[in-house]
Amino acid sequence: MRYRGRFAPSPTGPLHFGSLVAALGSWLDARAHGGEWLIRIEDVDRARERPGAAEAQLATLRRLGLVSDLPIVRQSQRLERYREVLARLVQSGRAFPCSCSRRELASSGGVHRRCLHPPMPARQAVRLRVEAGLECFEDRVFGRCCEDLARSTGDFVLLRADGFFAYQFAVVVDDADQGISDVVRGADLLASTARQRLLQRALGLPHPRTMHLPLVLDASGNKLAKSEGAQAIDREDPAAVLRRAWLHLGQEPSVLAGLRTVQAILAQAQRHWTPARVPPSWPPKGVTAPM
Ligand code: GLU
Repeated sequence: MRYRGRFAPSPTGPLHFGSLVAALGSWLDARAHGGEWLIRIEDVDRARERPGAAEAQLATLRRLGLVSDLPIVRQSQRLERYREVLARLVQSGRAFPCSCSRRELASSGGVHRRCLHPPMPARQAVRLRVEAGLECFEDRVFGRCCEDLARSTGDFVLLRADGFFAYQFAVVVDDADQGISDVVRGADLLASTARQRLLQRALGLPHPRTMHLPLVLDASGNKLAKSEGAQAIDREDPAAVLRRAWLHLGQEPSVLAGLRTVQAILAQAQRHWTPARVPPSWPPKGVTAPM
């Protein structure tokens, strides 16, 4: 399969250094494999979107020389496709309507094992049925990871009760429709990979390879979040930002010595990209690590 990677930011605020590390890592890995690199705007959750954020993120990426090889896809334009795929899952019995609320599931730690009452027409989510058993995969940085989804998440949400499609669902449909061979992203999403693989299997889709990159944490050990107004990187010299991201990815510092322009840095970096140097860093507090 030909290499095709992607960077998929949610437009919840300006890009911060942590998102840039994911953007650069996915771009370098695609280029080093002679592959394509796409940008996808994950604006499926309209409630969290900030007006103008997607355009600002794209402008930041452009300044850093990171430009999508194909026209940019926005999830908000794909709702019809999501509805069609979801209907197929419900018809086959793999997914089911559910009105259990978060409060009702609190006693089982939020894990959904069975419906506590019949679905109510007014507030219905759709969940994927999760069977007992380990979901295992080989991550290019973390090695073999396994998760028992029946214990950690239970039947998980594909369509939320507020009508928005869940990230887990949209990302799987998009990666497949766009022919993504390699998912390279932040290590917080390692904890989503098992769910995404289960969904891929339920839909008869191939599993992309995965590589989870070190997160950038703030002083108290939490992941930087765009929506919490983490400092934007636009005020910094683009060459300096790229150099800093290269170091964060565990790459050899001397490779970029003396290079001043974005073009020179990216050209040299793609020649020397060494995935084996990327350090495994565990997800931050509050993110469930796979078992
Ligand atoms: N949209 C997600 C985010 O901004 C990334 C999704 C992914 O790379 O799978 O964190």
